Amino acid sequence: MEEKLPDFPDLSGNAYREPEGNREAQSFPFAGGKITPELIASIYDRLDTALWIFDIENKQYLWANRKTLEITDAASLEELCSRDLAADMSPSVEERLRQYHQDFCKHNSSFSEIWTIYPKGKPKVLQMKLSGIGLADGRTAMLCEAREHHEQQPETLRSAEALLHTTVMISLYSKDGTALYRNTAARAVCPAPDTSFHDHFVDRQDARKFLDLGGQDCATGVVARIRTTAGPRWHELTVRPCQDAVTGQPAYLVSEIDVTELHETKERAQYLASHDTLTGLSNRTYLQERLTQVLQTATERGQTATLYLVDLDDFKMVNDTLGHAAGDGLLQLVAEKLKQLAEPEDIVARLGGDEFLICHLEKPGLETSDWFGRGLLQAFSTPQMIDGKPKRVGISIGYTHFPQDGISIDHLMRHADLALYQAKTDPTNKCVRFRQQMKRLRDEHLAIKKDLERAIQVNEFMLNYQPFACTRNDRVIGAEALIRWHHPEKGLIHPNDFIPVAEETGLINQIGLWVSRHVAQMQARLAQMNYDVPISLNVSPSQLSDPHFLTHMQALPRETGCNPERISLELTESVLLGDVPNALDTLLLLKKAGYRIVIDDFGAGYSNLAYLHHYPIDGIKIDRVFMDDIAAGGAIVKLILSLANALGAEVIAEGVETVEQRAWLSENGCHRFQGYLYSKPVPEERFLSMLDTQMRIAAM
Ligand code: C2E
Ligand code: MG
Ligand code: MG
Repeated sequence: MEEKLPDFPDLSGNAYREPEGNREAQSFPFAGGKITPELIASIYDRLDTALWIFDIENKQYLWANRKTLEITDAASLEELCSRDLAADMSPSVEERLRQYHQDFCKHNSSFSEIWTIYPKGKPKVLQMKLSGIGLADGRTAMLCEAREHHEQQPETLRSAEALLHTTVMISLYSKDGTALYRNTAARAVCPAPDTSFHDHFVDRQDARKFLDLGGQDCATGVVARIRTTAGPRWHELTVRPCQDAVTGQPAYLVSEIDVTELHETKERAQYLASHDTLTGLSNRTYLQERLTQVLQTATERGQTATLYLVDLDDFKMVNDTLGHAAGDGLLQLVAEKLKQLAEPEDIVARLGGDEFLICHLEKPGLETSDWFGRGLLQAFSTPQMIDGKPKRVGISIGYTHFPQDGISIDHLMRHADLALYQAKTDPTNKCVRFRQQMKRLRDEHLAIKKDLERAIQVNEFMLNYQPFACTRNDRVIGAEALIRWHHPEKGLIHPNDFIPVAEETGLINQIGLWVSRHVAQMQARLAQMNYDVPISLNVSPSQLSDPHFLTHMQALPRETGCNPERISLELTESVLLGDVPNALDTLLLLKKAGYRIVIDDFGAGYSNLAYLHHYPIDGIKIDRVFMDDIAAGGAIVKLILSLANALGAEVIAEGVETVEQRAWLSENGCHRFQGYLYSKPVPEERFLSMLDTQMRIAAM
């Protein structure tokens, strides 16, 4: 140990101030003048104990008795007091003295320790008692009482020194947790000298766990959060049962090292490995572990857990059209919303891409309801701000209950996935619970998808035409092209049985190109034959976001000789809801290319009337569900007619099946209709012969 503590002088300076309470004792002389201050001073000099007062702040001896001068090899008290101790005091001794000073000032502590001092370079081992003492100037100095320790074995001396200087924090506690001893390092971080073992921990439960472990055996290498003078820190502790050397009572020897930096680095690495960096949610790796925990909690409490899979509708489109930064922003926004809706013990994870998982512990009584899923839908029912603009974010949810629908994580995941698949393909129900028959449906869908890919290659499609007629004279005034699939084994397949799969898989883009080219050719052919009837074709929302579709449509008049002004593009109301990125721009360009824009199935969806006038709309087709309304007065149809009138849009009533409906429409100013009353969709040749008949009758 090279550290040097103060070397010593002789007595004289009278810097010592008795504590307030002792003032009385200063009124000399005592015992009728027999005891004088000089006598008292001479007693200090006769003592075999070295006594001195040390000014920690100025690193100076203030006073010392004769024994001290002897120990410190000082010529006189003046010489001792004039020694410049600051010059060769090591930083660790300085730090320790500062610590003592604090302990004296704050806690009035005293310490017994073995010190080695080096007066004139020679080591002297001292048994020290250190305490605080108030100076006349109001400051606190250190009163040192020291005896030489000739009898100490070198081994003991070294171990005492080691205990004093080690950075390992060593403490001794009685069995009930009372602090018995702390070495310097332990004292330096302990907020108060009498801090018990339990109060040492940020979480008192940790103390209990330790004592339980340490009670039987040694608890080693356990990391816990500890209260220290520098705030909460992570310590690695070893607790070992022992006996207090003074009382012989059972005690605990605790050694600690500060591992905060290491622990935090490890935690950070663990966090990064288990969380998604973009959203901060748990990632797929961490999910298995978390799910196991939550399902176990549900089992223990007899609760239902619901596993939700949430998928964003048309996320690819957002990424493709608004850019990846907007896509990232949307994912973060969704993650934030999901976190807000979930309870603290629920799991919210990002599985990758635009797919999220929530595992929610249901409150008793709500086991089978889908209230949470509905809440999610509700949260996304209003437009969200993406890239600074309000946009509708469609979500689909599939869910399954534990333990009712399955007990293994693997099954639950697969079940929720099947339910999600259904939610994605069903525009009317976006929150779907798993049902056993879904597996069959999914297999069917997958089979259709494979089949469709083949059908596109060999072109098994054809178009039927359903005429539009005039309510007044029953003449054909146009037609809608409706796709049919001629399956080599299954026969004729109607669009409702394959268009949703084509839309979901993106195959609709290829199919749509074929349909539009065919319709363009048909229109050119009709014009050549002098049948001046406009033709409508259906365009799926995702086609509008396909840049290839726009250029293809712009090229068609040149390539086929069609007149775009006699071709109507039927779009569903979803394009008005902001669901389709860039819809308005694309529609304006299509309009510029000459095509007519018609809203199909009007009134069936969630019409956003407020936005209707922003779009270049030439016509509206009233959904066929409203034809039933006609018998009851047709209030809604009247409303749609007046709206269309205000917008200057043409109206066609769809699904007209009775003469009463046709008559009502005629009376109410709607002169275009489509429906089985006039004709079902018919093959091209049949449609052409209808036009031919009509032309011949007209010519008669
Ligand atoms: P849509 O565009 O609303 O077409 C009208 C549908 O109503 C047609 O069904 C038609 O046969 C049916 N319909 C017409 N009149 C009546 C009637 O009086 N009563 C009843 N009950 N139904 C009537 P279809 O041909 O099965 O087509 C269904 C849907 O498939 C279409 O609805 C359209 O959304 C879609 N679709 C058809 N062809 C295409 C296409 O080429 N591309 C795209 N993207 N979708 C298409
Ligand atoms: Mg249509
Ligand atoms: Mg329709």
